Amino acid sequence: MNNQNEARDVLLDLKNIKKYYPIQAGIFRKTVGHVKAVDDVSLYVKKGETLGLVGESGCGKTTLGKCIVRLHRPTSGELRYKFGNKYRNLLSLNKKESLDARKKIQMVFQDPYSSLNPVKNIFTAFDEPLKIHGWSNADERKDRIAELLESVNLRADYMYRYPNEFSGGQRQRICIARAMCVNPELIVCDEPVSALDVSIQAQVLNLMKDLQKELGLTYVFIAHDLSVVEYMSDRIAVMYLGKVVELASAKRLYYHFEHPYTEALLSAIPIPKIGGEKRQRIVLEGDVPSPANPPAGCRFHTRCHKSMDICKTQAPTFRPLKNDPDHMVACHLADTADA
Ligand code: SF4
Repeated sequence: MNNQNEARDVLLDLKNIKKYYPIQAGIFRKTVGHVKAVDDVSLYVKKGETLGLVGESGCGKTTLGKCIVRLHRPTSGELRYKFGNKYRNLLSLNKKESLDARKKIQMVFQDPYSSLNPVKNIFTAFDEPLKIHGWSNADERKDRIAELLESVNLRADYMYRYPNEFSGGQRQRICIARAMCVNPELIVCDEPVSALDVSIQAQVLNLMKDLQKELGLTYVFIAHDLSVVEYMSDRIAVMYLGKVVELASAKRLYYHFEHPYTEALLSAIPIPKIGGEKRQRIVLEGDVPSPANPPAGCRFHTRCHKSMDICKTQAPTFRPLKNDPDHMVACHLADTADA
């Protein structure tokens, strides 16, 4: 497996990641079930690429992002990360190794308003992580903070301002700069532009692309806006009810999707009708079922417009297509390679 990862230049390899939250009830807080937020996800992220994660609210994409940065510890599975030329499981590192690993993987959160402490100025917000990660010289820390602010097109003297003195777009740029404080290799971006005005979104996305090119960053980009994900991503994973149901390159997914759920999500993107045929809108009926009690068989069968009898009893396996091994799908209708 390591040889295969080397050939693909894999930076992070997720193996059978599960994150279950216990449901407790009664006066003795007995565990009566589990919310299966992420259920057996295996994916890899190549060095320097952007892997998009899409799906409706509650599909598990944010939980998976938090497992990658280890804000949440997975219930089981492995997070294999490449340190030098060796892969190590991030979940079995000792304290010191774990701190080193945290430097390499950072996160940008959805809401730039609550990501910054309103009573601390920008200097303090940057200074603390730098100190924790070994920057002991105060002058060097100050220079680094100035350099980071300038890298996101903000003036160095803004470091003495407070979060309430910035617009939403400026705050998100500050959050991106803070994530880069300790020279990370991988940044998990959780809906980084969804709280911003449309006019500002493009600025922040272009900035992220420029930084990626300049610094060789790798992104896991979580969003529900499919146009934004297409613009940012090299490959895209579509999640439904805790599982990845389709994975392909961005180009392939948008024009040669295989899974009915991907088809329904893409049909919701408005496109101008110029000469050609109008795309048929597929409306997904009902809510996403509870992850505490997912449907038997294919988890999507209760809402799928192509559902068959077999779908109610037999869960499809996530497999590569026969004609494209890089395009993986979990659907009985897809022409997938045999196990
Ligand atoms: Fe729809 Fe069946 Fe495919 Fe599931 S396996 S997506 S229910 S056709």
